[in-house]
Amino acid sequence: MPELVDLEAVREVLDIEVAGRGIEHVSITHPIAVRCRSHQFFREHVEGRRIEAVGRRGKFLFISLDDRTVIVINPMLAGRVQLCAKTARPRKSTCLQLTLDDGREVRYFDERQMGKIYLALDGDFSDIPQLNDLGPDALSPDLTKEGFIARMKRFRAPIKSVLTNQRCLAGIGNAYADEILFEAGISPLRRRASLSPEDLDRLYEAMLRVFRTALEEVRRRLGRDIHIEHREFMKVHRRDATTCQRCGNRLTVIGGRSRPTVFCRRCQPRSLASYRSEFPITERCIYLNHASTSPLPKRSLEAINAFFSSRQESGEQRDDQHFNALRETRSLLARLIEGDHRRLALTFNTSTGLNIVAQGLDLRGGDNVVVGEREFPANVYPWLHLRRKGVEVRLVPMPGGRLEVDTIREAIDRRTRIVAASLVQFSSGYRLDVAALAGLCHDQDIWLAIDGMQAGGAIAFEPDREGIDFFACAGAKWLMSPQGTAFLYCSAAGLAAIEPAYIGWLSVAGSEDFEHLLDFTRPLHDDARRLEVGSLPYHDFYGMRASVDLLLEVGIERIEEARLSLTDPLIAYLERRGFGIRGSTERARRSGIVAFEQTDAPDLARRLARRGIYLSAREGAIRVAPHFYNTPVEIEHLIAALDEEARDGPS
Ligand SMILES: [Zn+2]
Repeated sequence: MPELVDLEAVREVLDIEVAGRGIEHVSITHPIAVRCRSHQFFREHVEGRRIEAVGRRGKFLFISLDDRTVIVINPMLAGRVQLCAKTARPRKSTCLQLTLDDGREVRYFDERQMGKIYLALDGDFSDIPQLNDLGPDALSPDLTKEGFIARMKRFRAPIKSVLTNQRCLAGIGNAYADEILFEAGISPLRRRASLSPEDLDRLYEAMLRVFRTALEEVRRRLGRDIHIEHREFMKVHRRDATTCQRCGNRLTVIGGRSRPTVFCRRCQPRSLASYRSEFPITERCIYLNHASTSPLPKRSLEAINAFFSSRQESGEQRDDQHFNALRETRSLLARLIEGDHRRLALTFNTSTGLNIVAQGLDLRGGDNVVVGEREFPANVYPWLHLRRKGVEVRLVPMPGGRLEVDTIREAIDRRTRIVAASLVQFSSGYRLDVAALAGLCHDQDIWLAIDGMQAGGAIAFEPDREGIDFFACAGAKWLMSPQGTAFLYCSAAGLAAIEPAYIGWLSVAGSEDFEHLLDFTRPLHDDARRLEVGSLPYHDFYGMRASVDLLLEVGIERIEEARLSLTDPLIAYLERRGFGIRGSTERARRSGIVAFEQTDAPDLARRLARRGIYLSAREGAIRVAPHFYNTPVEIEHLIAALDEEARDGPS
């Protein structure tokens, strides 16, 4: 649909080409477009007159004649102005032809027949619908930044609707609004009122840049064929644009095909507060228990329900669809940790992942494994189970719930084959200095397995970069996914070293080809899928796919930032009031969990729950675990409640 840039370029050409020319003949072929007292009236006022100038305001084009009569064209969705020889065959959808005295014609054609042509006499535009309601022209040099911001502030709606509202600014349509918002890095879904002064500032600058570039591009391409619309240079609103030029993420398309909104969820993030609508629980209580389980986001529940509905209605398994969903889940998880999806296996829980490692590595009698003594049991039993093979398990002390690299160094020796540690301790929230531990392990040729249960989804973490061999993490906590979803990520060397203890029909290459299921000579998958064995709970992974997609959309760095700024005031309060904080208050050693000692921890947790604040008690401590969608106000409520509880004591 022609927008101000398209029309401005058309206007420039027409103004040069036809100003000064006489109109010899008028032909109206599709009468509906010409809104005038009568066609006779239109012809009488136009035939024999000379064109003085061609102007534009917003998405209206003006052809001014020498007697103050103006032909006003509102091309709406599909109208086009054409300049051609009068001998050229008219298109079927041509509505109006103005034959000039130089043998050429200005034509208006419209595939949709929705555009309108009016006649304004004596400079009187009062009868022309919509024209008098237009805001200032978005391309006008008179539109200053202050003027732009003042205009914006008069309208309340999602920002894209404001930009395309012709009463606010004239000329911006669906395509250019998408381009401007992409350029500004602002989500089209954000409400205008949620934009900061800096956001509006950025929006104005982005608008100028988009217009400047687009005008140059359109001018360069236009030539004399002014009826052809040029959009090839657009960054997001191009027909063949599927991935973001800036970040490589898949572009999101919402809305109908005739008026799609295209944007990049990563480069144009929504405000964190806007995500609260994904979590209905926020309407009822303050949920700070993500270290136990996350509430399931709305979109994930919808994905799971859609799976079951389809299963109920069609009965059959849509295996191709399901395999594809698993593939996408692996890719999304790999993106979350900046890893390689071919080294990521989907599993059921952290325990499964760690068992694949414990049983898959060639560990023998006399070898030893080093583990912290206060690790979560999921990261202890898989190793203890190796005792039956004569493998020694060395449990190292963890004073204050902290696993320190120095303690591990003291425990390892020549026969140490693997160190297994949580990136974030479940009871203290202490974040391991994993780079130092990886350095230590690599120097001595020791495998490093990380229990990522309290880290994945909460912490920006790249196992490959840190030199981790195995990273096992489940979905139900910070990844906001259903129980029964998890993954194991392996280094290249780690994956090669694992001899799978279990093999099944999905472990082998070509297993998705149901025509040749009985070919038992197939080799194992050359990627981590060989660890997946058999059918997975598809419905759960549909949920996980939606949840991880949500986390990627928010951005893991933003999640981490939000978490730190949420817990800063809590830590300050706890320090002020002399609570014994577990783990560490040092930023680099902090995680999603803030834990503080409390003799009656389970009781205090119950009392807080009665006040609508949900958190957990673990190992003599209260564990507070907010996620990105929690708010500073919720933390203030918690602090006030802790204060009151401290004053009143157990009831
Ligand atoms: Zn992007």
